[in-house]
Amino acid sequence: MEPRGTERLAAIEAELAQVERALGRIDDGTYGRCSVCGDDIDDEVLRTTPLSSLCPAHLDVVPDA
Ligand SMILES: [Zn+2]
Repeated sequence: MEPRGTERLAAIEAELAQVERALGRIDDGTYGRCSVCGDDIDDEVLRTTPLSSLCPAHLDVVPDA
């Protein structure tokens, strides 16, 4: 048996929720903008973390927004 199976599933569900939020932001035109200050998120950041909804300045402040 895989004792960490439930944890893995929770992690996958959290990732899926992030993807769904990113798709929602594409729909309402706010994708690529910080959800805290509204600034454009750097292209470089979006390349490495395409699901990011925070600019580098707010990344540490709200880890799961
Ligand atoms: Zn910001």
